[in-house]
Amino acid sequence: MSAAIIDGKAIAAQVNQETAAAVAAWKAKGITPVLVVVLVGDDPASQIYVRNKTRTCRELGMESRQIVLPAQTTQSELLALIGELNADPEVHGILVQFPLPAHLDEQAVIHAISPKKDVDCFHPENVGNLLIGETEGFSPCTPRGVMELLARSGFDPAGKFAVVIGRSNIVGKPITAMLMQKAKGANATVCCVHSGTPDLAQYTRQADLIVCAIGKPEFLRGDMVKPGAVVIDVGINRVDDPAAPKGYRVVGDVDYDEVSQVASLITPVPGGVGPMTIAMLMRNTVTAVQLAADGK
Ligand code: NDP
Repeated sequence: MSAAIIDGKAIAAQVNQETAAAVAAWKAKGITPVLVVVLVGDDPASQIYVRNKTRTCRELGMESRQIVLPAQTTQSELLALIGELNADPEVHGILVQFPLPAHLDEQAVIHAISPKKDVDCFHPENVGNLLIGETEGFSPCTPRGVMELLARSGFDPAGKFAVVIGRSNIVGKPITAMLMQKAKGANATVCCVHSGTPDLAQYTRQADLIVCAIGKPEFLRGDMVKPGAVVIDVGINRVDDPAAPKGYRVVGDVDYDEVSQVASLITPVPGGVGPMTIAMLMRNTVTAVQLAADGK
């Protein structure tokens, strides 16, 4: 059996079209959504992420402002900037690109961004809202992207056994929380496994749905997957490949060649979850405009 591919690029393009229509509707009312992206230092991967976010923002008709600060920026300088952006009524969404240089405290930054402008959905207030099933505000971008991929591929997690591999605050924990919600498009029985789980494959082999987010190249092998399972690969890893033009290639956390022979539906890397993350950020920026308009 060879799995059908979930085309993240095509689904992200669909979502972006919807977002562009929502942006146009706000602009017709005289409001242009504004996303501010703050980059501290010159990490090359972060520069690429920020560039992609800025480009997509503009393609969808929103305004994107980039603020690039030197690597030696102090904690108080960064927090002062966030304070100014929080207070600026023209700014709807604020995103501080992580990782920050080691001397800066990411948790303090997460707490400092106004929950109403927190388009990454990292603030504890928004994380709490997610956990209790509030649907009006922000959604964390990568996990929401995974849920959209499932919904738009016609896979309903309800009543299924889902295994999430990884428990990070950015991916594993929120996906676990989303899949277990008593809500349409969710309602799965969820098990989250991690580095503290002995014999992790005993769980994945029973799963109807596996979401793999651990940052280990090609970790999930074919013999760890039940025939017919749906497999979502969140991982983005660079592995050396002297034959590739850049000397490396990008692979996921799933051994695609093996697992695609066993699964029924699978996301590729690249072109799976990645494009959805940005699409959800764009959607969150429009949500921020709505929250501002509602005075919430
Ligand atoms: P983190 O490093 O923050 O978390 C990794 C998680 O995996 C941790 O919970 C860790 O366990 C667990 N883990 C690590 N090794 C193992 C192992 N051998 N067996 C079981 N569990 C393990 O990573 P992220 O969640 O931020 O990212 C995961 C992957 O997703 C990365 O490849 C990242 O690049 C990618 N990513 C992709 C995005 C996209 O847009 N497509 C967005 C965000 C991330 P423990 O908690 O015990 O340490």
